[in-house]
Amino acid sequence: MKSFAELIAEKRNGQALSASDIQRIIHDYAQGRMPDYQMAALAMAIYFRGMTPAELAPWTHAMLHSGRVIDLGHIQTRKVDKHSTGGVGDKISLPLAPIVAAAGVPVPMISGRGLGHTGGTLDKLESIPGFRTNLTIEAYTEQVEALGVALIGQTAEVCPADKRLYALRDVTATVESIPLIASSIMSKKLAEGIDALVLDVKVGSGAFMKTADDARELAQTMVAIGEEMGKDTVALLTNMDQPLGQMIGNALEVRESIDILRNEGPEDVRSLTLTLAETMLELGGVDPNRAVEVLENGDALSVFQRVIAAQDGDPRVCDDPDLLPTAPHREPILASRSGVVHRMDTRGIGMAAVTLGAGRAKTDDIIEPSVGLEMAVRLGESVEAGQPLAWIHHRGQGVEQTTQRVLDAIVVSEHAPELRPLILERVTADRS
Ligand code: URA
Repeated sequence: MKSFAELIAEKRNGQALSASDIQRIIHDYAQGRMPDYQMAALAMAIYFRGMTPAELAPWTHAMLHSGRVIDLGHIQTRKVDKHSTGGVGDKISLPLAPIVAAAGVPVPMISGRGLGHTGGTLDKLESIPGFRTNLTIEAYTEQVEALGVALIGQTAEVCPADKRLYALRDVTATVESIPLIASSIMSKKLAEGIDALVLDVKVGSGAFMKTADDARELAQTMVAIGEEMGKDTVALLTNMDQPLGQMIGNALEVRESIDILRNEGPEDVRSLTLTLAETMLELGGVDPNRAVEVLENGDALSVFQRVIAAQDGDPRVCDDPDLLPTAPHREPILASRSGVVHRMDTRGIGMAAVTLGAGRAKTDDIIEPSVGLEMAVRLGESVEAGQPLAWIHHRGQGVEQTTQRVLDAIVVSEHAPELRPLILERVTADRS
């Protein structure tokens, strides 16, 4: 049997690892028998050398089986989830999951927290007074059966190898590796008990993938893993050249999600939510037109209300969003010149919201649910000097720094931008 140092050297030199060596590596790492320093060296070798499809499949399989794989086989209908690679103002899961469930396709959804400049579904949900995301797997299973949807966080039982490896990659400059990202995301999603998956791969200044080429490669890699594991997988590449919707910040994004479920709210959020919902319904074997029906007849909103109540939150927020945490101050950030909104550094806008307390700069930071940004302009719009570019919802802290970050991030010039569509491409197994 080769030592870990020999296997690291093989990968470093560009050789492919065998399936049995990969299984041993992940198994021993999850059990604490392979030290972090050796896994860090291997991750760096993978960062530079990549992984072949023949390596990626056993790698993902071993990560998936490092913990509990949830079995929802007793629920007869096809279960479908969505995963987004993360963006700014990306609150889509909140209106999406109830729409799809109300239309008849169960959504078992295990979500994450904010990462860097991007917000996380769990942090948003937890801004609803009382809402609990730490259900047991048994309670999660029962809720998916009863209501068609449960929205929970990662538990210690699911993919422990990824939990450890992700934390290690975060501090060893090995996050930005397409095979490592793809296997990390897919192992967690495949553990949920789903039959099919829709991936929203973000592209642009607010995404981890800055170019369509990188995003396409990530999408194709994840679709190939999903199909290899017997799950129908479709990816959409979607535009993150500017924040999604107007609201960035936890309770603010819940408000905007409720607006969408009330058949109101910004057009881009509605349009992306419906496109993803229709794709999930297709994969679930249900007429995609049901998405608009359940949005317009109020069924989706009432599913959201029932989910909030089932997870100990206050469902009255759906009728009275003022029951959500609200910042005491709302101040404008004013344009210093007239022109056209030419470009947004969307990552910078996300970081401005983090500065205010809407996200974490360190893992143990506490989020302030009420604060955030309300965008007042979109790419291509004309602005006059002195007109608001955005509003800061704040509690008296971080205002100056946030204002400066937003001003730095929004470029107003005499040139109109080239606008890209919201949905850029669809990646399926046939095309990949
Ligand atoms: N999200 C994940 O879950 N894993 C990664 O590697 C990157 C983003």
